[in-house]
Formats: sequence, C-alpha cells, structure tokens
Amino acid sequence: MSEQRPVNPADLQKDLKEFIENKYGAQVVFPDVQVDGTKTGEEAELTPVDDHIEFDLKPEELEAHLNEYVVQQDEAKAILATKICTHYNRMKLDREDESFKGGFVGNIKNNIMLIGPTGVGKTYLVKLIADRIGVPFVKGDATKFSETGYVGGDVEDLVRDLVREADGSIEKAQYGIIYIDEIDKIASSRNTAGPDVSHTGVQRNLLKMMEETDVDLKSPNDLASQMESMMQFQRSGKVERKKVNTRNILFIVSGAFSGLEEIVQRRLNQTRVGFRADEDRTENEADHLAALRSEDLIEFGFESEFVGRLPVVASLAALTVEDLDAILKNPNCSVTVGKKRDFKAYGIDLSFEDDALRLMAERAVEEQTGARSLVGVAERVLLQFEKRLPSTDVRSLTVTRDLVEDPVGCLGRLLESHEVKDFVARFEEAYGIVLAFDGGALALLAEKASKEGVSVDAMASAMFDDYGHGLKLLGHGRFTIEASAVEAPKAYLDDLVKTFYNKS
Ligand code: ADP
Repeated sequence: MSEQRPVNPADLQKDLKEFIENKYGAQVVFPDVQVDGTKTGEEAELTPVDDHIEFDLKPEELEAHLNEYVVQQDEAKAILATKICTHYNRMKLDREDESFKGGFVGNIKNNIMLIGPTGVGKTYLVKLIADRIGVPFVKGDATKFSETGYVGGDVEDLVRDLVREADGSIEKAQYGIIYIDEIDKIASSRNTAGPDVSHTGVQRNLLKMMEETDVDLKSPNDLASQMESMMQFQRSGKVERKKVNTRNILFIVSGAFSGLEEIVQRRLNQTRVGFRADEDRTENEADHLAALRSEDLIEFGFESEFVGRLPVVASLAALTVEDLDAILKNPNCSVTVGKKRDFKAYGIDLSFEDDALRLMAERAVEEQTGARSLVGVAERVLLQFEKRLPSTDVRSLTVTRDLVEDPVGCLGRLLESHEVKDFVARFEEAYGIVLAFDGGALALLAEKASKEGVSVDAMASAMFDDYGHGLKLLGHGRFTIEASAVEAPKAYLDDLVKTFYNKS
C-alpha cells in the first residue's frame, strides 16, 4: 500500500530543519546538489510491494504440526490452529473473490486472547504457527505502552516492526501476526476510584489498530526515516507516504490474568443463588475459565469494545513435572537440542539419560516459571562442563542423574579419570589388567599430584607401576583402586598379597 501525497518542499525542509535543530541542537544546511547524484525531479525507485502469502493449510494439519512440538495445551492448540487457519483461508477467499472486493461492513476478524501463566507455551504456539504459515510475527509487551507516554507511537511501532520482519514487504506485513503479552496489565485498575484513564487510553489505541487503521511506515519520532523522506524528496520532488493497513493483521494478546477465576466463580455463584450454590462449585481453575464470558473480562477491567474485538479466548494450564519431563524428552525440545548443539560446536557428543531429564524437570517445576526454567536448570548443570571440556580431549558426555545432582563432583571425577586414562591404557598393555580408580582414589591422587607438582598420570605411574606383577600373581583381570591404596600404595599391595596367601 502506498500513496503519493503532494508536499510543499519548502515546508518539509523547514520542518526537518526545526526538528533536527530542536532535538539535537545541530545546525542544518541542506545542499543544493543531490546526495546520490540523481537530478531533482528524477523518479526514485520504490520497493515493489506485491508479495502474497501462499496459504492452503487445513486446521487439523496445523494442529498436527503443533502436536509435534508442544506438550499439553490441547484446547489452545485446537483453537489457535482452527482460528488462525480460518483467518488466512478467509483472506485468501476475500482476495480472490471479485464480487467481494471491499469486504463487508462490521466484519470482525478472529483476534485471539490467550490466558495462562508464564512459560506454558503461549508465545511458542503462536510462533510455531507463524513460522509454519510463513507470515511475519512480532511480539510486544503491553506494559511498555503505558510507561513511555508515547502510547499510540508504541503500538504503531509493532506494525512497523512487522514490515521489518517481512524484509520490507508491506504486503506481507499486512498479513502478519502481532502478539502482545501482559495484556492484563492494561486492564483498568479495579481498586482505584474513578476511571483509570491511562489504561483505558492504551486499550483504545490498541482497539483502533485491531479494527483497521493505516500506520505510516515512517515514524514521526525517528530521525533516520525523516531524513530518508527528505532525500527522497530531493531526488524525486515528491514524498512517498507508505502506509500499512492493519485490517488483515491478526492480533493475539495474552496474559496471566490473576484474579480472573475468582470473578468467574463469583458470577457463577451469584447466578446460582437459591439453587444450592455450593453443589456444582468446582475448585478447578481451568473449569472456571471454561465458563469465562465477556462480562468477566469487562469486570476485570477491559472496555467492552476492546473485549468485543477479541472474540476467541483460549486458556492454557500450568505445566506439571510430568509435562516438563515430556517436554525434555520430546525430540524437538529446544533445550536438549540446543545444548547438544552447543557441545557439538566443540566436537563433544552430549546425551541425556531419562533419569537425568526427570530430575531436571523436578528442579524446574520448583521455580514456577513453567518450561522457561528448563533452560536455566540445564545451564546450571552443564555450564562448568561447557567451560572445561573443550580444553580436554573428552569427546563425549552422558548426562546422568548423578551428574544433575552433583555436577561439580562429577566434573572433577571425569577430569581426573581422564587424566589417568593414559596410565590405565599403558598398564593394560603391559600386564593385561584393567585398572579402575574410584572417585575417592582419583580425588586423592589429584591432590597428591598437585602437592608434588607432577601430573596425575606421573603420580599414578609412580605409585602403581609395581602393582602389575603383584596383581598378576593374584590372578586379577580387573582391579579397582580405592583411596586407601593411594594413601599407602606399597602397604596396600603387601596386605593384598598377604591376605591372598593366608587364605590359600
Ligand atoms: P509463555 O507462555 O510465557 O509465552 P513461552 O511460550 O515463551 O511461554 O515458553 C517458553 C519456552 O518454553 C518455549 O520457547 C518452549 O521452548 C518451552 N515451552 C513452553 N511451553 C511448552 C509446551 N507446552 N510444550 C513444549 N515446550 C514448551
């Protein structure tokens, strides 16, 4: 969408000069010659804007795609897959149907409200859908709209961001998805007397955008885009006003809405007065939200027009330990796949045992930020390994339950056992006996080696080279060295031999 609007060149120069001088205190002199060498009046080349979104998915195909990545949240998956598919198929029909060119008055698109705690998959679902469909997607935060004071400007910035996401294609941006989180924070406060003007104002701005409005691609607060206009004007003698129309942009808003269940519950109780109100009372939050009506959202603090523009509501449940465990075990899990890639970057193969994943899920659930805490748990477990192992020749790491429980101890043992691996190999070659050092032995060996200022390998060699003949005599094929052997290697071996002969 673009529109040529004649602008008085002198006015534009004056405005810009004032804008720059006021904002930056810099003197502005406009050159007579063109910056890029073109002559005044020459037409500048404009970005082509006729990209269309190709779309032929069906709701169940999209739902199946979501099932591959997202654990639980069946209701949200079904609603989002269906309504978003219908939105794009409807637009395709409207575009292709000649007799339906201008749409019809009063048509309300399927903007969606997602209700659920943090880290349960709200953003993830929408992002997966946008990627699958191939439409630009941007995420914003409703709390920002009120803080800056540039309320309208901020909401409009999201539309401009969509164009950026669509590599400059306005046409594609006009079919994009804008996701706004923390929408519950712009509900009017229910505790203050009188109307909550600022929040109501933000809702109205957003409402305008959700209905239909044209957003200027050039932000009035952005110096760079104003300069660009000026240069374009110098080249072509005209200023092209590019606008993005929001009619087909899908808005998805979300929030935790704490306190909403009580509002629903209260209404349900009131309607049941006299009908044994307690009888059907459910204690389950999800059941309350299933009974959610527009009036509850209005009671929560939204304008009725605003609620009217969000005809589709889906709620998402908190995730349990089992759910987090299932997320970690999903082959598409971004946490495990991501960590494997991080280690692979150093040539190290990382794998996770099921028990270890379960324990990570148990740790994560305690943090109460849903699946978001999984990343933090994985980082805490693996960070030291990620730092140390690349400088060693360890080429694989299996994350076990022990490792999750005691990463520092495990890393120590791994490094120490790695340090004696050459000695163990030499010993086996010389005597045909496989030596194993237990954790205590390794720690002590490392301590002694560091005290003496020698390598762990050299220390092990000095202490246990003599063991070859003795152990062979005793008929050992495998032998585990414990801490007490490291304390006094000679005495330990003597004892072994004595005990053996006494027995025989
Ligand atoms: P929010 O609900 O706060 O928007 P997100 O969707 O951003 O949370 O979740 C954060 C991350 O946690 C996602 O990127 C995803 O990797 C993971 N995640 C969250 N919920 C689920 C889920 N139900 N199934 C699989 N992964 C999930």
